[in-house]
Amino acid sequence: MGESVLTAGAVAAPGEPGFPYVDGVLHCDAVPAPAIAEAAGTPTYVYSAGVIRRQYRRLDAAFAGVPHRIHYSVKANSNLAVLRLLQAEGAGVDIVSGGELYRAREAGFAGGDVVFSGVGKLARELHEALAAGVRVVNVESEGELLLLDRVAGERGVVAPVALRVNPEVAVDNPHEYIRTGEKGHKFGIPFDDVARVAREARALPNLTLVGLDMHIGSQIASWEPYDAALARLVSLVVRVRADGARDLQYLDVGGGLAVSYDEEAPADVQRFAAGVIEATRGLDVTLILEPGRYLVAEAGILLTEVLFRKRSGGKEYVITDAGMNDLLRPSHYEAFHRIDAVRPSGEEVVADVVGPVCESGDFLALDRRTDDAAPGALLAVRTTGAYGFSMASNYNSRPRPAEVLVDGDRFAVVTERERYEDLVRQERASLEWRAG
Ligand SMILES: *Cc1c(COP(=O)(O)O)cnc(C)c1O
Repeated sequence: MGESVLTAGAVAAPGEPGFPYVDGVLHCDAVPAPAIAEAAGTPTYVYSAGVIRRQYRRLDAAFAGVPHRIHYSVKANSNLAVLRLLQAEGAGVDIVSGGELYRAREAGFAGGDVVFSGVGKLARELHEALAAGVRVVNVESEGELLLLDRVAGERGVVAPVALRVNPEVAVDNPHEYIRTGEKGHKFGIPFDDVARVAREARALPNLTLVGLDMHIGSQIASWEPYDAALARLVSLVVRVRADGARDLQYLDVGGGLAVSYDEEAPADVQRFAAGVIEATRGLDVTLILEPGRYLVAEAGILLTEVLFRKRSGGKEYVITDAGMNDLLRPSHYEAFHRIDAVRPSGEEVVADVVGPVCESGDFLALDRRTDDAAPGALLAVRTTGAYGFSMASNYNSRPRPAEVLVDGDRFAVVTERERYEDLVRQERASLEWRAG
């Protein structure tokens, strides 16, 4: 213990939305983090509305010159208030389940605002999607194509279909669990099968082939994988049109834009947009983008309180009230999240920052140089607006955390902390046996 702290994390410029230190105290926009912890308790996710708007507007502006639609990937952060905020900006949504469709509808999205993705859609979910009038269903297999044709037939409608192509390109991102467009992955239709499946789609009576789609992975920081994948996707547009497809109007280039978790460079949105626009020039399509992480990751922190400190086996531990059930990314993806003290103590320590869950894999950071925070101190786990709360669970019967949205100098609780009663609501201790 005892080296002095030189930096205390990224600083937002005055007036800019974000997480600045003001008088030595971390704020979200203009609201002091301790005030939020006081009102909502810990652990609590805190989101800056201003950062979400900024990210959306940056991406939208980068594509301003061409027809495009931004469909926010709901699974990154599914909170109704976040969805509503993005809807007010003009976003659509990209959903992967009936539950996400329900959320999108609750938040006020119309059917036409919805793109339906996912590798294992249920008949029930396809019924719900067609009843809602979704803009397009991104189909990932021949089996799904046949099921969708049947469901559309039952409903007496023609379903708008895009084929999700697996472009089979190498993706160089931080973890294999977030690569989805390499040869042999479960996602999409294998590249060599697409032309044939497109003919099949066009031959089915209750489908219209309106687009091609890809999503090659997440946290992609370089242009190269997009470049390679887009070239292949564009070649398929030409091929499928030459085969007689007349209604192809959407080219969905997926999500995956990287954000900066540490010192690494985030995706260059200008470069990305310029590349996509160049690769699709003259194609006469509306581009669809499905960003998740890019829009919300940097907008969020997880506020947590230090419960205890201890030394064991020559190691320092900082034990926090947030665990892997609240934030799964460190243990699941070996993901790095910066951890900053809300009121930096001026001293540093190298420690494992760990949660209360009974698993050795329950950590927020390992061997991390961090604030020498005493019990009772507040920490902010940074860049947790994406795949944070949406991946939270009740493991160890821990109620899931609260969520708070900040807008300028105001904040609102947008998800109440779960209560013990919520944990057992669906369970039965006295049983109604049925004859088997
Ligand atoms: C998860 C997902 C996205 C969003 O990915 P990000 O890396 O968060 O941008 C987009 N499209 C599909 C089909 C997805 O499954």
